[in-house]
Amino acid sequence: MNTSLILKSEQELKKDRIKVKNFLSHASKLSFWSSHFDKNNYKFDYKNFRWENFNQIPLSSKKDFISIGLAQRLSDTKNIVRSNTYRFMLKPTAGTSRETGPVLFLKNADVLVNKSYNQIYKTLILFQPRAISLRYVLSDVARSINSKNHIQSLVLNPFRFKSEGVEAVKEFNGDSIITFPACIGYMTSNFRRANELFHSVKRVWLSGDFLSVKELDLTKSKFKNVNVDIDYITTEVDTIGVYCKFLRSQFGPNTYHPNKDKVIELIDIDENGQGEIVVTKMEPIQMSFIRYRTGDVGRWQELKCKCGESGVIFLEGRKNMDIIKGLGVLITRAEIERVILMVEKEIDEWRGEVREVERNGTLLGELTLLIKPNQSLNPRKIENLKKTFGENLLLTPKKTLSQLSAEKKFMPLKIKIVKQFEEASKKVLLRKILD
Ligand SMILES: [Zn+2]
Repeated sequence: MNTSLILKSEQELKKDRIKVKNFLSHASKLSFWSSHFDKNNYKFDYKNFRWENFNQIPLSSKKDFISIGLAQRLSDTKNIVRSNTYRFMLKPTAGTSRETGPVLFLKNADVLVNKSYNQIYKTLILFQPRAISLRYVLSDVARSINSKNHIQSLVLNPFRFKSEGVEAVKEFNGDSIITFPACIGYMTSNFRRANELFHSVKRVWLSGDFLSVKELDLTKSKFKNVNVDIDYITTEVDTIGVYCKFLRSQFGPNTYHPNKDKVIELIDIDENGQGEIVVTKMEPIQMSFIRYRTGDVGRWQELKCKCGESGVIFLEGRKNMDIIKGLGVLITRAEIERVILMVEKEIDEWRGEVREVERNGTLLGELTLLIKPNQSLNPRKIENLKKTFGENLLLTPKKTLSQLSAEKKFMPLKIKIVKQFEEASKKVLLRKILD
């Protein structure tokens, strides 16, 4: 059975063969990749390169970036960083993988490949993490230098935004917003006058997370005549999946065309067609990623899209999903497991589902814990479990689930008892439900 797949059409494979071959030949001489190839006893053979043996190139992961080290990467990039310093930054990943903590990467500022991004001039950048905001500001600086247009950006932390800022935002008169789905959900849910605040916005660019149908609908209802685009982007390799309006109308959100500039693969494809998404990013060559394991799980379907593209990636979830960004909260696997230790005797296995629930025109997060108990639980014990989780599970650095639900900022905890979890080769403990 073929368990790995390159997400390119026959024609694209033919067209890209020489480009990829030349890239691999150059990259394999870099300090970073030659260490990696040596470690895995792999030698790139320029003469005999075929797409059929692309999957013999060793995979790479966050772990390799830690073990080889940032210093090698910096020595490879010395020259390009010196010539254009403003285009680069050191940026940590969120550390969503269990195997490692956050990893520091040298990043290029250019983020979006979508061409219509070049037509926006006044961007409102709404992120809580400063590093992400800084990256988009650098990206705008780079665009400003390369084009004749005057490009401006205004950075806001959506979770600290107060009414005093309203006039400044109005005055800025931004034509677009760049943010996470949870941030825009938070802003539109907490600011009833959001449409007034963002009256001049024509485009909302989302990334970094799954977009639920409810979030999309709410965003569209608050922002009339606004394009809501969402690309599938990761800190390490930038854009992997590109948004297409035809795909969304046919299959819903979280469906993408593969970014053509990269080699995107699915590996370890299981009986349901789901596999891990692996990406080769070729430019800039000094900062390339070769067969990098994203930890994301996807599915592939060939089709003839109205836009002319020939296939769709269904982004299904994270293999090691440890963090779900809610509306102003973080639901983490580590935190759930910390509380589970308190009631260890009762619980054999668990799963968590996070969804959004609409209440009076605003969205609230909701956590359902599915629990397979060690022995049958009576209703009193289930109530006790709810109490323990509610009072101990932190969803912000200082607030528990019970506190947030008393403040009407999160739904009360739901617990469902299950007899048996389905056997699955890709076990997902914590997932976001998107319908
Ligand atoms: Zn399309």
